[in-house]
Amino acid sequence: MLFSKMFIPTVKEDPKEAEVASHRLMLRAGFIRRLASGVYTWLPLGLKSLRKVERIIREEMNKKGAQEILMPAVQPKELWVESTRWEKYGKELLRFVDRNNRELCLGPTHEEVVTDLVRREVKSYKDLPVNLYQIQNKFRDEMRPRFGIMRSREFSMKDAYSFDADEPSAEKSYMEMHEAYVNIFERCGFKFRVVEADTGQIGGSFSHEFMVLADTGEDIIISCDACGYAANLERAEVGLMGEAPSGPKIGLHKRVPTPDQRKIDEVSLFLGITPDRLLKTIIYNTDRGTIGVLVRGDREINDTKLKNLLELDELELADERTIEEVTGGPLGFSGPIGLTIPLYADMDLKFMENFVIGGNERDVHVVDANLGDFSVKGFYDIKVAVAGDKCPRCETGKLVATRGIEVGHIFKLGLKYSQAMNATFLDSEGKERFMIMGCYGIGVGRTVAAAIEQGNDENGMILPLPIAPFEVDVLPVNTSHAESMDVARAIYDELLSKGIDVIMDDRDERPGVKFKDCDLIGIPFRVTIGERGLKDGIVEIKRRENKEFEKVPVAEVAGRVIRYVEDAKHR
Ligand SMILES: [Zn+2]
Repeated sequence: MLFSKMFIPTVKEDPKEAEVASHRLMLRAGFIRRLASGVYTWLPLGLKSLRKVERIIREEMNKKGAQEILMPAVQPKELWVESTRWEKYGKELLRFVDRNNRELCLGPTHEEVVTDLVRREVKSYKDLPVNLYQIQNKFRDEMRPRFGIMRSREFSMKDAYSFDADEPSAEKSYMEMHEAYVNIFERCGFKFRVVEADTGQIGGSFSHEFMVLADTGEDIIISCDACGYAANLERAEVGLMGEAPSGPKIGLHKRVPTPDQRKIDEVSLFLGITPDRLLKTIIYNTDRGTIGVLVRGDREINDTKLKNLLELDELELADERTIEEVTGGPLGFSGPIGLTIPLYADMDLKFMENFVIGGNERDVHVVDANLGDFSVKGFYDIKVAVAGDKCPRCETGKLVATRGIEVGHIFKLGLKYSQAMNATFLDSEGKERFMIMGCYGIGVGRTVAAAIEQGNDENGMILPLPIAPFEVDVLPVNTSHAESMDVARAIYDELLSKGIDVIMDDRDERPGVKFKDCDLIGIPFRVTIGERGLKDGIVEIKRRENKEFEKVPVAEVAGRVIRYVEDAKHR
């Protein structure tokens, strides 16, 4: 491909609307253009990267026996009513009415459509397992689309759905997708991590997220520095601290005045103690009534873990009136003594002595409280994990926190959709049974954006070779110098004939402009042909991530570049 013939509208200035590197650089390098809020056109360069990711995905999915289909973007309401998601999905589901007054939606995901397809076609255990996938555009009407492709409303996704006859088979389907995903993200050239993810109300322990590591990532990954444990923040467990002190003390507590001191830092400052000497009492309204949750003053409650523990659908902080009704005191002065609602304590509480709690009365706290002063339902792991916590899996490890971008998510759905939509088959004894499902997603456009978040510098993108729009840029410095152009053309032709994805920058532009564009687009290898070097029969090879040049005799350059490209592919 010749640079002069390609539609690459690069931009020198940083676009104002871009908050993150991938958004900024995709606009600047001419990868994408915005059409409407959260809706983007992919331009030739960006699309080349997108197609490379898709190709890797297809190859790895097909290797595992998954089969590609293509489902429609427009979906009928009736299927969503069957799964009960027409009510539950909320405003992210873009709904509309056709000329015959039929209600429809733009698919944000395809569980309903694929379950409908399979229940109609699959009748017997002999037809199972089946794993169907597609690469298709989805639409979610996000309230705040931002970060360009990273959080857009219309987005390209690979979604796969497996249907199995029994648990062992379903587990195998899941593990095969797990393997396929590891292969996909390795082949894309990512530094990534597979983490345990929350399964929410669907249940089971089978959900993993694939996180590309990047300092700018929105997600926090908690992992152990000693063993392989890794989870997203929502899910991350915390290990128990050693032995609890024996025999709680009772009856030492005293009420003290704390005028207008409501917050943890206010109370600890006022009393001259550290926040970890306080115990927070937080009152929640839930679908199972009002509850109190106790956590050490310096820690936060993890709502997801709490909801899973108590099997709650709804969990929200109680309003001031409820707090007064339940505790007798105003917001900011709640404590566990004398409360009649069920109290759930974080396990840290077991290790606390002579701590401070609210007095359930305005401007009063209680000091030297102890476990024996009130009773709790039990001690649980319900706090947000932080770096330095003990690993929940091994003896010695400490948890560390890193940032990542979720690019893939695999999920064992179980019977959720097959039961709701009556997707059954006949087993070997002729008994009707529900299919066991799994679903497996990859944000394809997001994968390109994540690559840019992981690799960039002040000059532009640093893309892994397998998904860079081009592998090599052949760059003659002076296009009016005949010998330079001859040599450039010869190198370009040889690389092309060997299957290298190469672009030649034949533009009559200043060298600085061409170097800048090459860096901005993140082409992994640049071959520079200059008049001066040619006098000695030399051209230069430069890797995008390095500052140094390698001077190479003209005759050897193509062979060497081909070797480098092969190495970069099989890194
Ligand atoms: Zn560990």
